[in-house]
Amino acid sequence: RSKGEGPGRSTIFDASMHDRVRERIELEGALRTALAENRLTVVYQPIVRLDSGRPTGAEALVRWTHPERGPIPPMTFIPVAEDAGLIDALGTWVRNEALSQLARWRADGTVDGDFYLSINASPRQLEDPRLPVIVAGELRRYGVPASAVAVEMTESVMADGGGIAARVLYELRQLGLRLLVDDFGTGFSALGYLRRFPVTGVKIDRSFVSGLGESAEDEEIVRAVVAMSRALGLSIVAEGVETRVQRDALAAVGVTQAQGWLWGPGVAPEDFALHWAADRHAPGPAPLAAGNP
Ligand code: C2E
Ligand code: MG
Ligand code: MG
Ligand code: MG
Repeated sequence: RSKGEGPGRSTIFDASMHDRVRERIELEGALRTALAENRLTVVYQPIVRLDSGRPTGAEALVRWTHPERGPIPPMTFIPVAEDAGLIDALGTWVRNEALSQLARWRADGTVDGDFYLSINASPRQLEDPRLPVIVAGELRRYGVPASAVAVEMTESVMADGGGIAARVLYELRQLGLRLLVDDFGTGFSALGYLRRFPVTGVKIDRSFVSGLGESAEDEEIVRAVVAMSRALGLSIVAEGVETRVQRDALAAVGVTQAQGWLWGPGVAPEDFALHWAADRHAPGPAPLAAGNP
């Protein structure tokens, strides 16, 4: 068929909509099965201290390989899980996987006692008033202190003033978990929430990091975030660091923690232990002389 004579625009639109709906339903079914059959995985990306290059923590990132279509990015399947009512089950699965892994690493000395695991939460998960009690139970079950766990959430959770979420965040913080604002700076929201919510730190979005060394504006933004975070007593992690230029620019303005491909992507737990174990000391700053206070 030639252009103009074929199906009208609306028919084409309907057909592609139909495809998308079908694809969504297929993905949803496959995801449901993957969850039920325990076929998701979690990878761990190191969060390093900029002064020593040693890991101070790791971010848990969920992975899914579709049986026919191969790896599907979280940006694609997390929204499917949210729409399908699967996000609580997915979140619970990721927490249990990550917390049991953290318990093993703490027990076998792969990580130090002050190492923390950072776990992403969708806004929907933080709307569940039972979440704090559930998390408290999980921490007990795995014998992991709350201080070794961070919850990452986006600004949108707090932008709405967050009725239930506000209480959930307060209770998670009461338990002793760290609360980090993910993708900080991309939410277009007034910063007042940093005072109203018990946030303990921010993660500077990659979009501000990528221009460092080239863009004076990005550098000023990061400088301002550092000043604000210091004044409010918040921790800072820079996300998506890919080059040494970016790393040096971050260190120069006082950012202390970072993650990104410069140090490595998320990896399977056995690879994390192999490359990032606490006893594999890279040449770092000289230890304090014996007898120092
Ligand atoms: P996020 O929490 O902001 O995670 C950072 C994303 O940046 C990850 O993508 C990570 O693989 C990627 N990344 C890390 N370093 C670099 C870098 O140097 N350069 C670039 N270009 N990218 C880098 P990923 O794993 O595809 O996850 C995407 C998003 O999906 C996450 O963004 C998070 O919002 C969500 N997500 C991942 N795992 C979970 C989960 O278990 N639960 C929930 N609710 N959301 C999750
Ligand atoms: Mg995150
Ligand atoms: Mg992030
Ligand atoms: Mg991000």
